[in-house]
Amino acid sequence: MQSTTLSPGDPIEARCTKCRKNTNHIVVAMVEAVPAKVQCNTCSGQHKYRPPTAPKKPAVRRTVDPKIAEKKEWDELMPNMSGKQKTDYSMTTAFKTGALMNHPSFGIGVVQSLAGPRKIKVLFEDGVKTMRCK
Ligand SMILES: [Zn+2]
Repeated sequence: MQSTTLSPGDPIEARCTKCRKNTNHIVVAMVEAVPAKVQCNTCSGQHKYRPPTAPKKPAVRRTVDPKIAEKKEWDELMPNMSGKQKTDYSMTTAFKTGALMNHPSFGIGVVQSLAGPRKIKVLFEDGVKTMRCK
């Protein structure tokens, strides 16, 4: 690694044993371009510099969070919904794919697909929910 240009008074992230986590510190003393002593901004404690512990990365990287994908889809659909007819939701009403509904709790939703007998998948602002229908 390249030699750092830190000097006393500079902010640095370090592991604080009092706070038991990585916190922002201020360099108090340098020894040969290495922070020797730091002061924690959170607890004001001075201690020997310890490098921040690396956050554990999840072993498997998730491609797309379904919640984010649903929100994105919602944001794209939403502008087309205004002015279109919405049917108040009820379990005794039949809904078709693509129909708009007005739900008393979840608000406006778009019927995405049929999820089985008398069940539909509806995209609301909160995400996709499975609803009963006729
Ligand atoms: Zn601390």
